[in-house]
Amino acid sequence: MSGQAPSPRIIGLTGGIGMGKTTVSDYLDKTYQLPILDADIYAREAVQPGSIVLEAIVNRYQSKILLLDGTLDRRQLGEIIFTQPSERIWLDEQIHPYVRQALSRDRDRLIQHSHQTIVLVIPLLFEAQMTDLITEIWVVSCSPDQQIQRLMQRGALSLEQANARINSQMAIAEKRDRADVVLENTSTLEDLLEQVDRAIDHPFSPNSTKSYG
Ligand code: ATP
Repeated sequence: MSGQAPSPRIIGLTGGIGMGKTTVSDYLDKTYQLPILDADIYAREAVQPGSIVLEAIVNRYQSKILLLDGTLDRRQLGEIIFTQPSERIWLDEQIHPYVRQALSRDRDRLIQHSHQTIVLVIPLLFEAQMTDLITEIWVVSCSPDQQIQRLMQRGALSLEQANARINSQMAIAEKRDRADVVLENTSTLEDLLEQVDRAIDHPFSPNSTKSYG
């Protein structure tokens, strides 16, 4: 017997906006106690007061892009980047290197602490070309109608804003094509979570794309 440790399983969880990433990662956290690294949290960290990214943003849009307390006015920035694609590309170029480096650093720390399965939630996994950080791609997917309905129910976005965000991302069909595991979130929560149970029980082998729906 060789004493080599098995390679860690690094799940990259993605999908369209509002399709169910957080629902799945919360479940993996609570039910399986898996460590979760969330790209959105690092993306917020990247623009904290004093950061070089926030400085670049202020240089580009002037200090009117800040709230009175000196933090980024995310709502205003959202209006800019989701109506002007070139500005979104510019912003992504500022933020993604920080997110990649932080995800990679914390993933490696978890591996050093002997975690065998780690989950990276990366909404822009493909768009930001971060698939090299993981060993297995899970895409949570639902229909366009369900996506809009769930986003509207959450109440934070108008229909126009929701559509602008959806259209800024890679089409879900393309994400599904690149998935190792597709989680069909088209029915009940129970149905979704049963698919997660099955996917966790069967680590991806590179021979087939699995759909648990
Ligand atoms: P975001 O991209 O905005 O971070 P997300 O992909 O993390 O979203 P969730 O927050 O998990 O998506 O889900 C979006 C909304 O849809 C939430 O309010 C969630 O409770 C609801 N939802 C998720 N799955 C289902 C389901 N199967 N049936 C009904 N509602 C659902």
